[in-house]
Amino acid sequence: DVAFSHPVCCAVEVQGAGAVLPLASGRADAWFDSDGTMTKRPVRALTLSALAPRPFEHLWDIGGGSGSIAIEWLLSHPTLTATTIEPRADRAERITANAAKLGVDRLKVIHGSAPEGLSGLTPPDVVFIGGGLSEGLLAWLEDTLPQGTRLVANAVTLESEALVTLAHARLGGDLLRIELAAAQPLGPKRGWKASYPIVQWSVTL
Ligand code: SAH
Repeated sequence: DVAFSHPVCCAVEVQGAGAVLPLASGRADAWFDSDGTMTKRPVRALTLSALAPRPFEHLWDIGGGSGSIAIEWLLSHPTLTATTIEPRADRAERITANAAKLGVDRLKVIHGSAPEGLSGLTPPDVVFIGGGLSEGLLAWLEDTLPQGTRLVANAVTLESEALVTLAHARLGGDLLRIELAAAQPLGPKRGWKASYPIVQWSVTL
């Protein structure tokens, strides 16, 4: 039973009740295997919007975790490329598996720590920092990346928030504070369960 067939780009057959991967970034968390350390769907959607992929661009995803950011970057367009770096071996393996499962095994996964593990890599057009943010990493990126590189950093701890606040004063860009809450059961009724606030800094170097 062919539910949909596109005459120009491809013959897509959607059969039965199987899961269909949505086209927009901010896909359901269940698409990604994780150990709980993952940028969750709404924040991931806002992050991909801030990363703003354009055809042929290359991403560095620092602090890969489950790989969800780099994977959604790659799913945005077939010409996009990405490298992710993650120091934990179990997570690096999980990233590789998640990428393969979602059809973007062109993701390059580096098992290592930023900034040391980044030297010598193909320079990026866009950098995302989801983990490992430090004064040393920021200084290294500022010294190493060409002018015009776009950078997005998500800070969840007070320490990383302090870093991006100072960096914003020095380098400009946008600071966005993301405070979300979702309804969940509270005894017999419902209440708003707040997530940790996230401060997102986006800048063009
Ligand atoms: N965006 C990810 C979640 C990031 S959690 C996702 O959606 O899954 C932050 C990650 O940064 C953790 O997995 C942690 O191991 C990693 N990390 C911590 N220090 C790092 C460093 N110096 N370089 C690279 N990654 C680092």
